[in-house]
Amino acid sequence: MPSTRFDADIILVGGGLVGLSFAIAAGQAGLSVLVLDAAPPAASLAPGFDGRVSALGRASTRLMGALGVWPRLTPYAQPILDIIVTDGRVGSGPSPLGLHFDHLDGNPDTSGQALGHIIENRHIRAALYNKISGIEQISIRAPAKVLAARSDGYGATVQLADGASVRGHLCVAADGRESVLRKAAGIKSIAWDYAQSGIVATVLHAQPHGGLAHEYFLPGGPFAVLPITGNRSSLVWTEPTRRAQALMALNHADFDSELRARFGSQWGEIKSEGPRWVYPLSFHHARDYVVDRLVLAGDAAHTIHPIAGQGLNLGLRDVAALAEVLVDAHRLGLDIGAATVLERYQAWRRFDNVSLAAVTDILNRLFSNDVPLLRLARDIGLGIAGQIGPLRRLAMRHAAGDVGKLPRLMTGDAL
Ligand SMILES: Cc1cc2nc3c(=O)[nH]c(=O)nc-3n(C[C@H](O)[C@H](O)[C@H](O)COP(=O)(O)OP(=O)(O)OC[C@H]3O[C@@H](n4cnc5c(N)ncnc54)[C@H](O)[C@@H]3O)c2cc1C
Repeated sequence: MPSTRFDADIILVGGGLVGLSFAIAAGQAGLSVLVLDAAPPAASLAPGFDGRVSALGRASTRLMGALGVWPRLTPYAQPILDIIVTDGRVGSGPSPLGLHFDHLDGNPDTSGQALGHIIENRHIRAALYNKISGIEQISIRAPAKVLAARSDGYGATVQLADGASVRGHLCVAADGRESVLRKAAGIKSIAWDYAQSGIVATVLHAQPHGGLAHEYFLPGGPFAVLPITGNRSSLVWTEPTRRAQALMALNHADFDSELRARFGSQWGEIKSEGPRWVYPLSFHHARDYVVDRLVLAGDAAHTIHPIAGQGLNLGLRDVAALAEVLVDAHRLGLDIGAATVLERYQAWRRFDNVSLAAVTDILNRLFSNDVPLLRLARDIGLGIAGQIGPLRRLAMRHAAGDVGKLPRLMTGDAL
C-alpha cells in the first residue's frame, strides 16, 4: 500500500530562476512546496555563480509584479527603450539596413512603455530567495541532490542522493537543461549542440547607452550588447566553441581590443570589467512535459539559443500556466497530480515553446555565417521588415510576451 504521508503538496526539484518563481506562485496561492536544489543557497547567491543578465519582456515583469517580487527588482532593472538589429562583419561596421524597434512605436496601449527590462540574474535570484523567506508554505532543502522520481496512484516519491526520499502529490522538475528527472523518467528530447558558446561579460562605456540594446549579427554568431544600470552593458558574444575558448584565455587588454573591433562608436571609450563567463549552447525540446505525476518546466522542458533572449521568458510562461492549472484544480478539490490536470498545462504551453524554439534556431542558422547570397537576402529582409509597421509591431509584441492566451499572473492578476 503506497504511503499517504506527504512532505508537501508539491516537491519542486531545481531552485533556479524558474523553480523559485514557481514556488512563489504556488506557495502564495496556498499549495505547500518543498524546494530541493543540489547547490546550497550560499553558493547560488554568490556574485560569481551566474554572470548572465535576463531581458524580461513586459509579460514577465507583470508576473514578477503579481508575485510581489518586482519592487525588489526595480533598483536593478534597466528599461529597454530601443532595439537595433543589424548584420555586419568584424572591422567593417554594421550594415546600413537593419531593424529598429522603438518603445514609442508600439501599439496605442503600450506605446511609450519600455520594451522590456534587463536585470542581472544574481539580483533576480536574490530577490526571489528574499521573497520566499516570508512565505510559510515554502521550505527549501539545499544542498539536496535528486536522483529520480517514481509515482504510484497517490503520489510521487523523490529519491535523494543521500539515501533519503520525500513525497508529494506531484513532482515539478525545474532542474535545468540536463534534467536528471527528465532522463530518469525516460522522456526523450529532440536535441542538438550548436557547437557555439556564449561569452558573457560586463562592459563599461564612457557614453550613456540611453536604454539601447544592439543585436549585431556577425559571421561567428550574434554579438548582443544589452544595457544595464549605470554606464554599463552586458555582452552576450556568441562564437564557435573553440574560438570562444581562445577569447576566454586572452588577458584583459587583448580581450578589450577584440571588443573594440566589434563595438560601434556610440558608446564612446569602452573596457570590460570583472570576470567573464562562457556558456556552451545547445537546443533541446522534450517530447513530453508530463508523465506519471512528474511535470517539466523551464530549461528542463526546453532549452533554446539565447539569440533572442527568450529562454527565461518561456520558462516564466510555464510557471504562470502551471501554477494556474494546479491552483484551479486544488480549489475545485481535484487531485493536482492527476493526468487530466497536468495535460492542460502541456497543451497550453507546447505550441508557444515549440514555435519560439524553431524561430530562434532558424535565426541563428540564417545569421551565423558569411555566405554572400544569404548575407544579401537577410540584409534586404531586415530592411524590408523594418519598413513594415504592422510586422515590426507584431515582432515587438512577441518579444514582450504579449501574445496568445496569457495566464492570469502574466496579465498582472493574482491567482
Ligand atoms: C548566455 C545566455 C544568455 C541568456 N540570456 C537570456 C535572456 O536575456 N533572457 C531570457 O529570457 N533568457 C536568457 N537565457 C536563458 C535563461 O538563462 C535560461 O532559460 C534560464 O536561466 C533557465 O532557468 P531554469 O531555472 O529553468 O534552469 P537552471 O537555471 O539551469 O536551474 C536549474 C536548477 O536545478 C538544480 N539542479 C540541477 N540538477 C539537480 C539535481 N539532480 N538535484 C537537485 N537540483 C538540481 C541546479 O542546481 C539549478 O539551481 C540565456 C541563456 C544563456 C546561456
